[in-house]
Amino acid sequence: MRLRNIPGAREKLEESIYVFTEEELMKGRWKKEVFKNEAPLHIEIGSGKGRFITGLAAENPEIDYLGIEKYSSVLLKIMKKQQELDLDNLRLIRMDATYITDAFEEGEVDRIYLNFSDPWPKDRYAKRRLTSDRFLARYEKILKKGGRVEFKTDNKDLFDFSVESVKDAGWKLGYVTHDLYSDEEMLKGNMATEYELKFTKLGNPICKLIAVYE
Ligand code: SAM
Repeated sequence: MRLRNIPGAREKLEESIYVFTEEELMKGRWKKEVFKNEAPLHIEIGSGKGRFITGLAAENPEIDYLGIEKYSSVLLKIMKKQQELDLDNLRLIRMDATYITDAFEEGEVDRIYLNFSDPWPKDRYAKRRLTSDRFLARYEKILKKGGRVEFKTDNKDLFDFSVESVKDAGWKLGYVTHDLYSDEEMLKGNMATEYELKFTKLGNPICKLIAVYE
């Protein structure tokens, strides 16, 4: 998602107490110095307008959340939601997740959410997919053992690629469906994203996987 450039977006983000930029990463210090507790840390990569991460943070005050988004103009939308909700357990990072290991210490993260990630359909850009072997190797460096990646998309090709990528990396597939909305059990507590609302309205089935890093 790339919104029209909003003049002053960078400056507004840099002034916000909720937002950290790539120059202010708190590697190894999120719990102690930012959230000031020992709660589990869940992150979302590519938060878009932030419905998912703000919704989860509001519902689960016992968990700390970080929403990661690379575009200032998009992050500004989440920042506004956060300002209205004033959630103590949510912070935002503006960065490209390619450099995610600069943001977190080994084992610092308990869970990673990826929602409707960019598909990069051309083979030559496959490494840029957030579920490629390259990204899984980065996640291995920041996730706790037993931690997981939860991924939703309506893009079947990207989903099938991701299932294979998880298997090839030697992670355990804890859950796989090509139609989340027909699985009543898994739908309990499901937080829909902006893209998810749009695509379910169009009748597209939503795929979901849970990959466990063992
Ligand atoms: N997750 C949201 C949803 O489901 O409604 C937004 C989906 S949108 C297709 C993908 C988002 O991921 C965009 O906002 C994009 O800027 C962000 N994004 C893509 N690649 C990224 C990366 N490498 N690092 C951080 N954010 C990224």
